[in-house]
Amino acid sequence: MASESRHQLHVFFFPFMAHGHLIPTMDMAKLFAARGVKATLVTTPRNVPSFSKTRGINIDIQTIKFPAVEAGLPEGCENIDSIENSIEMFDNFLKATKMLQQPLEQLLQDFQPSCLVADVFFPWATDIAAKFGIPRLVFHGTCSFSLSVNHSLRQYEPHKKVSSDSEPFVIPNFPGEIKLTRMQLPNFIKHEVETDLSKFLKEAVESVLKSYGVVVNSFYELEPAYAEHYKKVIGRKTWHIGPVSLCNKNDEDRARRGKEPSIDEHECLRWLGTKKPNSVVYICFGSIANFSDSQLMEIAMGLEASEQQFIWVVKKGKNEKEEEDWLPKGFEKRMEGKGLILRGWAPQVLLLDHEAVGGFVTHCGWNSTLEGVTAGVPMVTWPLSAEQFYNEKLVTQVLKVGVDVGVRRWIRVVGDSIKRDAIEKGDSIKRDAIEKAVKRIMVGEETDGMRSRAKVLGEMAKRAVEEGGSSYSDLNALIEELKLHCL
Ligand code: UDP
Repeated sequence: MASESRHQLHVFFFPFMAHGHLIPTMDMAKLFAARGVKATLVTTPRNVPSFSKTRGINIDIQTIKFPAVEAGLPEGCENIDSIENSIEMFDNFLKATKMLQQPLEQLLQDFQPSCLVADVFFPWATDIAAKFGIPRLVFHGTCSFSLSVNHSLRQYEPHKKVSSDSEPFVIPNFPGEIKLTRMQLPNFIKHEVETDLSKFLKEAVESVLKSYGVVVNSFYELEPAYAEHYKKVIGRKTWHIGPVSLCNKNDEDRARRGKEPSIDEHECLRWLGTKKPNSVVYICFGSIANFSDSQLMEIAMGLEASEQQFIWVVKKGKNEKEEEDWLPKGFEKRMEGKGLILRGWAPQVLLLDHEAVGGFVTHCGWNSTLEGVTAGVPMVTWPLSAEQFYNEKLVTQVLKVGVDVGVRRWIRVVGDSIKRDAIEKGDSIKRDAIEKAVKRIMVGEETDGMRSRAKVLGEMAKRAVEEGGSSYSDLNALIEELKLHCL
């Protein structure tokens, strides 16, 4: 089964089992394959269907069993999005991923690839690759800006030098004067006591420092100061090869990233086709986050009050009753023709790229943020978890293509109840704030400036991946370097 030819580069891609990691890794594999590299994607059986619809490009898929039951998870729980609300489940999920080491080793033994691109959440991957004498590249799934924030916080711990959770501090040794508060930081950064998760993440950081380098789904011109800064502080090579979503050239591929959309994309496009350019706001909070009914109600009221047309993605199925409890009375009837509620999975990139879509309310997951940048639309930032508060700063303060809705507190979305957190900690966002923020990106005084800056960035993003563009060249440089190193 070993690589048939030592003259062809063969790269193994091993993404973490969450859509925010699987989707861009699949795109990355397509990019490599399009340049003549043999690309193999390694994942677990239940994560395969999300990829099976990809056409045109030959990517080999190898599966390894996910030891859900062995790690104390229900049978079939193989993706972060199937984790119920308990911290223990999340810890068990991480435990299961650690058990993937041996089956991955077996595949490396069998196929003898030239390089392993493995997710940052597999800290052990650097050592395994070394065992087989091949380089390990790390994929984080976020931008250089946020990787640099993370690095600075870990190194200088500025959050330990403020007297309250709400007192702002400047991120030390970091380009630009960017401020954060302790409330906006992930638990695993601010907690004094070591937890399994914080230990695990420390190992992840250490494995980056021992790796061959880092591939980043971003483009140099978007964040030049931070691209340089990150490379310098980690002392590793980095390649900015994004936006990887742009490898999907036709509507069908753009519509089918991740999961099968819950709506016929043609129907959606027909609906958008009846709208004027930049007249619809798209609202989606990524692949994991779920809101409480009361928060959904506030969003609905805020949208209605904003008087903007919208497509709103809600991770809830249609209920049997005539009217949903989480919607104001008569909402859907009143919004007919004006707003679409899309229940389940949206063909996000396809929708964002439509000329009728003129704004994006996002949770600032990096993929969504970059997809918004690529589409050239202003954004309302509504961060929840992970590194999303850092991404918010990039959007609102550095790129100046968005306004924040006013979330102040980080919450743990995976393995904890967002409902409980949002309610108990009082960080739900009220309808007025939503109305105001949506108006600001769609029709307010600042809209024109934001929109023209966003358009410029969108053009830059597309140029970056075209022949001769920065991401195109960076990917070429990486492939050539790997050929020299590995063949
Ligand atoms: N996505 C999608 N349809 C949905 C929800 C999400 O296509 O209904 C895609 C989105 O385009 C992005 C990814 O799922 O590529 C979500 O990644 P992100 O980093 O934005 O957020 P996460 O899901 O990791 O919180």
